[in-house]
Amino acid sequence: SDTRKVTIIGSGNWGSAIAKIVGSNTSRHSDLFDKQVRMWVFEEEVDGQKLSHIINTTHENVKYLPGITLPENVLAVPDVVESVTDADILVWVLPHQFVKRICSQIKETIKPGAVSLSCIKGLQDSSEIALISTLIREELGTECSVLMGANIANEVAKEEFSEATIGCNDAAMCQVYQNLFTTSYFRTNAVQDKDTVELCGALKNIVAVAAGFIDGLGLGGNTKAAIIRIGLNEMKMFCKLFSENSKESTFFESCGVADLITTCYGGRNRKVSEAFVKSGKSLEALEAELLGGQKLQGPMTAKEVYHVLQSKGITSSYPLFRSVYEICYEDKPVKSLLDNLSLS
Ligand code: NAD
Ligand code: 13P
Repeated sequence: SDTRKVTIIGSGNWGSAIAKIVGSNTSRHSDLFDKQVRMWVFEEEVDGQKLSHIINTTHENVKYLPGITLPENVLAVPDVVESVTDADILVWVLPHQFVKRICSQIKETIKPGAVSLSCIKGLQDSSEIALISTLIREELGTECSVLMGANIANEVAKEEFSEATIGCNDAAMCQVYQNLFTTSYFRTNAVQDKDTVELCGALKNIVAVAAGFIDGLGLGGNTKAAIIRIGLNEMKMFCKLFSENSKESTFFESCGVADLITTCYGGRNRKVSEAFVKSGKSLEALEAELLGGQKLQGPMTAKEVYHVLQSKGITSSYPLFRSVYEICYEDKPVKSLLDNLSLS
């Protein structure tokens, strides 16, 4: 048949919310997609039972997205190779530090002509700007589009109206992805500026860490707004550094200003960074203590960006990105963020 088979690689907080959306759409558009959606689960035991078994019997990811019923046509598969066999569309949704290893496990199995779409926010650790979509494309030989937006997973899963941006440079595939992701409560817009969409998603997590520091210091709305504005400027500069063709209009899509706002008020990076200031505990300890197995992406992304800035000798042009790195990894005091911003 000429319907496409979809596999979701990842089943965390956002991975499970994406599975809910995709599963409902493959049922609705049975002319376009195979109804069954396989979702790779990094296997673990929860209350003495395998998580994949719990998901397949209760249709709930009790650990990463509790309280939300997943469509019955979403099948949890613990073997990553089995999960991607014969798949036409691979939807990537896992913490970015795990992507490389998964690519190496599945690269021999990818169906010729398969395509990827990444919902992953982060960068590769390199002296050059290296996108996660590039890693996927180079490792697997599949084109890789992206979906990013103002999407706190728990809110999307509860069907609270949200928007997202699809970054895809192929007009025909934009339509396929809009059919796969759009629902009554999840509105998507597709733009042909993939790299800017992806960089926005990655970089805003660094700004969210700074916003959390501001909350931890007990400062108010003016300072948070300044952080968001300065952060947006550094995001734009960094995107221009990557590509002169980065479009200004993309920052006004959901992946830009809107994602910055929601993440700086309601995200996990913000929450853990606030606790970092108030408790004096390490980020790793707080991630484990506060997130129940979910993962932070912001501090790591600050390090990845810092390595690029350092190799180009331009750290001083990015006082916010630089300060977040120094606070997270070089024991600089949190207040140095504001000192560096007021000097610049
Ligand atoms: P998460 O933060 O819930 O991470 C937990 C997941 O990682 C679990 O599925 C766990 O099994 C898996 N995991 C743990 N160790 C692993 C290992 N060694 N190898 C492979 N997998 C392992 O994940 P998430 O919220 O689905 O986030 C995935 C991506 O989506 C991230 O880049 C994130 O920035 C992005 N994102 C998240 C949200 C959100 O609100 N949660 C929204 C938009 C985008
Ligand atoms: P956090 O990872 O900080 O929760 O951000 C989630 C997100 O990307 C919202 O769009």
